[in-house]
Amino acid sequence: MNVAEMLAVVHDDWMEAALEGLSQTVATREGLRPQLERFFELLQQTAASHDAVWMDSVIYLWVWSQTSTDLDSEHTSVVGVLQRLLGITLQVAARHFPPEEVLGAAEELLQYWSHMLEYATEQEIRARLDHTTAELERAQRELERLDKSKSDFISVAAHELKTPLTLVEGYAAMLRDTLTSADKGVALQAQPFLEGIFRGSKRIRAIVDDLVDVSLLDNDMLKLSFQPLWLGQIFRSLADELAPVLAERRLTLKIHHFPGSDRVLFGDVERLQQVFRNLLTNAIKYTPDGGKITVDGRLLEGFVEVLVMDTGIGIDPADQRIIFDKFGRLGNPLTHSSGKTRFKGGGPGLGLAIAKGIVEAHGGSIWVESPGYDEEKCPGSTFHVLLPLREAPPEDGGKESIFAKLAAYIKKGE
Ligand code: ADP
Repeated sequence: MNVAEMLAVVHDDWMEAALEGLSQTVATREGLRPQLERFFELLQQTAASHDAVWMDSVIYLWVWSQTSTDLDSEHTSVVGVLQRLLGITLQVAARHFPPEEVLGAAEELLQYWSHMLEYATEQEIRARLDHTTAELERAQRELERLDKSKSDFISVAAHELKTPLTLVEGYAAMLRDTLTSADKGVALQAQPFLEGIFRGSKRIRAIVDDLVDVSLLDNDMLKLSFQPLWLGQIFRSLADELAPVLAERRLTLKIHHFPGSDRVLFGDVERLQQVFRNLLTNAIKYTPDGGKITVDGRLLEGFVEVLVMDTGIGIDPADQRIIFDKFGRLGNPLTHSSGKTRFKGGGPGLGLAIAKGIVEAHGGSIWVESPGYDEEKCPGSTFHVLLPLREAPPEDGGKESIFAKLAAYIKKGE
């Protein structure tokens, strides 16, 4: 007996067994019946023509009509369904025919199934790949949307806070002026309150300024004013500015006279000062009292490299990229102590994102090296800033990437 004749005999039994084996619920059972009828019909045509290509259409339909839940699941697959149908077909045949006849038919059936499984696997890989790509694209769009909302929020917050803050600062200044001509006792009494207002508004001003800078960088609107500058001079002025906090925290700051520190560069003095101020205040914040901060550097072909090193708590290698993202501060915000220079005094996590934006706008690069994070052993961190040595302001506004320059440098060496 050939397979086609065998199939004709087992049809009713096969249908019941297949429905039973594949469906979990009566509802799906009814939806399944026409599909299985179609499958069986094509299987009969395959057996009659000895060509399993007949099965492709139904398999294609099954694979591509899977829902995203099916495609996400590891338990449902058309390949799995086909394997179960092969088992059912052989079991049903065994109920109707003697073993030697089933064995003879099985050889032929296996050939058909091997084609079906190969085709189904190929189609399922394609379907899952398409599905995963679509999911990735969706996640990417969602990320872009979130990033845009974050950016918009920063922009709005910065601009909305600026006006009332200016009012507070203005009224506080007016109050101070009024008090100078007021009764001495009243002036003395009001003094600590006024100082409190000035201290608080100064902190808010610093945060608002950072938000404005981030929003400028996000919108590619940061304008640099290129002028001749000397790094040594920037560090001398920062050392003076930070001397009181360094003394308060018993930290030593050693600024080496490094090659390149007294060479003229073209850059935005204010902005570069902001970068190194951020790096030094971070070194202060993340180094325990009594620690050491060192500034050193070296000249490379076409660049000057500045190193800001500390003996602080260090940064886990896994976090060394994240910290340059907006709000890339680490640890639980609630456990951060407040204050701009206190040990582990967390800020909003914008300082390094701004530093990165400014350095890159100069055509430079910034990164950190640290053996890891350890508050006990304090392995320290070293921030590297690479800046191009320019003899004149750049025509492109400093936007040319450091990679383009490195590529040109490598080419020059060839
Ligand atoms: P923050 O306002 O939190 O200091 P930054 O952008 O300046 O924001 O820094 C981001 C995070 O990077 C910090 O919260 C801190 O976890 C980590 N970090 C920065 N500088 C250092 C440093 N010198 N040593 C250890 N950790 C640092």
